[in-house]
Amino acid sequence: MADVIDGKKVAEDVVGKVKALTTALTGTKPGLAVVIVGEDPASHVYVASKSKMAKECGFKSVQHSLPENTTQEELLALVAELNADSTLHGILLQLPLPKHLKSEPVLQSILPEKDVDGLHVVNAGKLAIGDLETGLISCTPAGSMILVERVRGKDLSGLNAVVIGRSNLFGKPMGQLLLAANATVTMAHSRTGDLPAICRTADILVAAVGRPEMVKGDWVKPGATVIDVGINRIPAPEKGEGKTRLVGDVAYAEAAAVAGAITPVPGGVGPMTIAMLMANTVISAYLAAGLDRPSF
Ligand code: NAP
Repeated sequence: MADVIDGKKVAEDVVGKVKALTTALTGTKPGLAVVIVGEDPASHVYVASKSKMAKECGFKSVQHSLPENTTQEELLALVAELNADSTLHGILLQLPLPKHLKSEPVLQSILPEKDVDGLHVVNAGKLAIGDLETGLISCTPAGSMILVERVRGKDLSGLNAVVIGRSNLFGKPMGQLLLAANATVTMAHSRTGDLPAICRTADILVAAVGRPEMVKGDWVKPGATVIDVGINRIPAPEKGEGKTRLVGDVAYAEAAAVAGAITPVPGGVGPMTIAMLMANTVISAYLAAGLDRPSF
């Protein structure tokens, strides 16, 4: 039976380090601005938890909640204002935006050094050329990588990694991080042929697809490290009428019987994302103060 990778515990360690780094920073404190547009209830829950965590870390925490009918120009003007505010080190734009707004121009208007989501082309480009020191790295892959390191160490030489999913938010940066750690990386996606056979080559199997329990137990190489990034809500009639539960992209019980280590859903990758948002904000504050980049 696989070891369960406790993402909640690792996230607590990261947040503990963020708090210590914040206390040690003299003359300034990390500042995080979270921007949300519209009334999507799930997005409001995410934003509230990010703002709360930022306060717990000792940050200056600012939240801008804009109405649904905000224009592209108004949103860009707010980002320009936040870019110019030297007390803010991180700007997070909660996605998705309402349909009439284009997210990409807004994301690209955030100063790269304040882009704590790691979505600016400058930060994506730094990661692509193997510069892990001067840019900011997308939170979910950065957090997933820490979980991989806890099991396999920092040097993945000789290990095969398969990432299912090639999104800019997760799959591509995850592939780059694994490559930078010397793994031999295969990027799989919806057009990949014989996905189960490719997955069976993986010493490290990372699933970020958005399809409930797609990765079956017999796709997993015995002893593999399985990182399940998916968060899918499915009906759970066994809990009562209309009830739901969260599952990942991996069929957990089957995979856990074969894997060496596996992340549960919930409680695996999920808690790491918000912890790495705090880590990126404190990294940005240290770099802005001319100090050495803290490592996590
Ligand atoms: P996305 O942008 O929708 O990308 C999904 C990827 O999966 C695409 O590259 C797609 O391939 C691939 N795919 C779809 N169907 C497939 C199939 N049948 N076989 C193989 N590949 C397939 O999603 P994302 O933003 O990367 O997120 C993926 C999942 O991670 C979602 O469940 C999301 O909720 C979750 N997530 C969790 C966190 C967290 O904090 N834990 C953060 C971010 C995302 P194509 O490119 O060919 O279409």
